[in-house]
Amino acid sequence: SSGPATVLVCGNLHGHAVKRIGEAFRLVHIERADPSLLSPQDIAAVRAISAFGGIDADFIDAFPNLEIIANFGVGYDSVDAVHAGAKGVMVTNTPDVLTEEVADLTVALLLSTLRELPGAEAWLRQGRWAKEGFYRLSPLSLRGRSIGIFGLGRIGLAVAKRLEAFGVTVAYHNRRPVDGVDYAYHATLKDLAEAVDTLICIAPGGAATEKAINAEILKALGTDGVLINTGRGTTVDEDALAAALSDGTIAAAGLDVFAHEPYVPQALLDAPHTVLLPHVASASVPTRRAMADLCVDNLVSWFGARKALTPVPETAHVKAK
Ligand code: NDP
Repeated sequence: SSGPATVLVCGNLHGHAVKRIGEAFRLVHIERADPSLLSPQDIAAVRAISAFGGIDADFIDAFPNLEIIANFGVGYDSVDAVHAGAKGVMVTNTPDVLTEEVADLTVALLLSTLRELPGAEAWLRQGRWAKEGFYRLSPLSLRGRSIGIFGLGRIGLAVAKRLEAFGVTVAYHNRRPVDGVDYAYHATLKDLAEAVDTLICIAPGGAATEKAINAEILKALGTDGVLINTGRGTTVDEDALAAALSDGTIAAAGLDVFAHEPYVPQALLDAPHTVLLPHVASASVPTRRAMADLCVDNLVSWFGARKALTPVPETAHVKAK
């Protein structure tokens, strides 16, 4: 068929991405990934999907002429990329353009958690500085800490580079050691947790990391232990974390991500020594705009040059027909 390709947008997508898709393609927008919201004609017409995750195998199977899924975000654990790859459907994500932003936020969350910045600010705003005096001394400090990074990839390396300037030691755990880095490698997460007092999780979500940070890992981190998670909430056993904070198994946690967003477990809201953020690590106007551009540039390149710009590894073999 001739004319612009039909691109299906599912759910809330960045306005700049929706605008560009509408200019370059035939845009069909539905509020959630549910094929029953579409006519049979549109189902047959769809050649591309763009969404902020949430694309499972059944949804992929609903579209006989689907060629590409352009995910908004670098993390694509909620897109079934293995299934897409097996069917010859390309999946793209938005790496690199958010790396420095997310690394900045990760270090900010680490410092906020250690030095209790939200608690100190609340003290001032509640007028307690004037009435009661200085905010309490923070029991924790970044000074002398040894940091373990779970997921030393693009963002993990950018976090490590920042932490070098803070004068703290860095070690890491991946499935494989990274070539050309001097940080100490630990072949298991347990070994890393035993070796450090601060664990920063910036690993991908999905089955391979599900609840990897469990009661055993938190115990290994120890009573001075601090957990920072800007990766995915599914990587943490949230019940075990709430218990570990409440009974002093670890000292504090800073979380940007949760297993069932936007739901935050009451036990974590009630747990002491936490800083909790609503998944904001990449959420600045300039970075989200750059992500929107890369997301749409993948579609433009696929339907123009017949080549994806940033394919995910699971679909790197997929060729345009
Ligand atoms: P990369 O793919 O560059 O890095 C991922 C790293 O995790 C690699 O070093 C990889 O090493 C390691 N890893 C992957 N799977 C496992 C595993 N099962 N066990 C141990 N290590 C593992 O990704 P990015 O750095 O670009 O992004 C990382 C993640 O950050 C994203 O997937 C996303 O979930 C999250 N993120 C969160 C944001 C937020 O808003 N909070 C914003 C942006 C990203 P190896 O393959 O050797 O195991």
